[in-house]
Amino acid sequence: MTSRILVVEDEAAIREMIGFALTRAGFQVDEAADAAGARRRIFEQRPDLLLLDWMLPDVSGVDLARRLRREAATSDLPIIMLTARGEEEDKIRGLEVGADDYVTKPFSPRELVARIRAVLRRVAPAEDDALEAGGLRLEQASHRVTCHGAPLEIGPTEYRLLRFFMSHPERVYSRDQLIDRVWGGTTYIEERTVDVHIRRLRKALEPHRCDGLIQTVRGAGYRFSGKG
Ligand code: CA
Repeated sequence: MTSRILVVEDEAAIREMIGFALTRAGFQVDEAADAAGARRRIFEQRPDLLLLDWMLPDVSGVDLARRLRREAATSDLPIIMLTARGEEEDKIRGLEVGADDYVTKPFSPRELVARIRAVLRRVAPAEDDALEAGGLRLEQASHRVTCHGAPLEIGPTEYRLLRFFMSHPERVYSRDQLIDRVWGGTTYIEERTVDVHIRRLRKALEPHRCDGLIQTVRGAGYRFSGKG
């Protein structure tokens, strides 16, 4: 399977050079020239890895990385930071915001490809990366969800919502927080939309008697509880 790499770099010459090298190495390459463009591409088609330049014209690469880490939809997106600076302090800052690796310009295409492969190997989903609670099982590698062993058909938004809940159990989230963490900040989502997807999710869980796992907390929001 070909991995899809999103290259975020405002300097066209460097972006093209990287794109060329990665395509030659057998990757599928998408490109963006700024943070806004990167976000758009990420939500249109999620890349397997983000190659993110430190210096961008709108939002800095570090800030973008930090924001992506905060949102459930992209919290596990592998990120390699690119930078012209070689200082140790910057490296630490880059890794602190959650970048998986760090490549300093100038770099050779070979080195870059090797680093990308290393990160992809490291983050490849383990055989058993499933989340389990209250009879529900969510396999992150295959996006398969079962309830007491019975397969569950849910849409992509319900899947993301459920994955967020299952990885953050026993905590109340307001509709606003859910929009932020599950949908991300790119599109305007009304609070009612959250209720619609919660309803759909419960409806899918209902025949298996798992709908009680998603609890409404009056005046506060929703909570996932495997304690019944
Ligand atoms: Ca740049």
